[in-house]
Amino acid sequence: MAQQPSEFKPSISNHDRLSDQGHLVYPVFSRRSGGLSLGINLNTDRGCNFDCVYCQVDRSAPPPPLKPSIEQIEAELRGWLDKLAQEEGNDHALRDISLAGDGEPTSVKILSEVFRLLLDLKREYQLDETKLVLFTNGSGIDRKDLASLWPELYAANFEVWFKLDYWDQDSLVRINRTRLNFERLTEKLIEFGQTYPVILQSCFFRWQQEAFDCAKYQPYVQLVQSLLEQGTKIEKIQAYTLARKPTEDEAEPWSNAEMDQLASLLRSTLKQPVELFYETGTEE
Ligand code: SF4
Repeated sequence: MAQQPSEFKPSISNHDRLSDQGHLVYPVFSRRSGGLSLGINLNTDRGCNFDCVYCQVDRSAPPPPLKPSIEQIEAELRGWLDKLAQEEGNDHALRDISLAGDGEPTSVKILSEVFRLLLDLKREYQLDETKLVLFTNGSGIDRKDLASLWPELYAANFEVWFKLDYWDQDSLVRINRTRLNFERLTEKLIEFGQTYPVILQSCFFRWQQEAFDCAKYQPYVQLVQSLLEQGTKIEKIQAYTLARKPTEDEAEPWSNAEMDQLASLLRSTLKQPVELFYETGTEE
């Protein structure tokens, strides 16, 4: 059974299956946010316009017959927030509420309504310290119905964690297996990032037993440098490798030592802070 607010025991949750059981909101201890998060899965159909080789969403089984609605999201969020408010004083401070489900949230029509709901609940429950986080591949970051919401969201402790694992059209196709255009995606990142700060989330991993070679990631560094030169406000880079088994067997984590080498490359050439997430933990 999925956890209910009434039987809350924080743990590393397997949120992939909660939507199978009719839930849209799931609790998780996130290594990247460093504490308790509530995640919202808007992509119960597991739809994504990327098909990353390292994706952990199992699309082999049919998705649950569950369509996200604003009413259900509100009811589930209130259940968790009421429970957490009752337990105030314990170690379960809510670090963030994140939109990070089984696909791309910016492709979901009700996203703007969800943002409005989150802003309202944040005020009502006085969650000043709780971040709102959007995980995105950036494909819909230019949606017109979202544009007017960004200032209010950013004033309410909001972060956009922007996926960037690629550095040209070829790597985008190879790693993220999408038909989307590299130039257009990076244009969207630049256009958004010139006004609003973003956190880059970049997954680095071994593919088909290739040998580790730091030089291979030089074009990634050059792309980030070019984004910065064009005025993209990159707050920090989160470089991570695989922590859980992806659906493709040929994708494997780099070792801690290999990730250290990669971090040295990034830190020696980029001024932005680089947070490193190993296979099994975090380097602060
Ligand atoms: S963007 Fe995220 S959900 Fe979509 S395929 Fe990639 S890892 Fe999976």
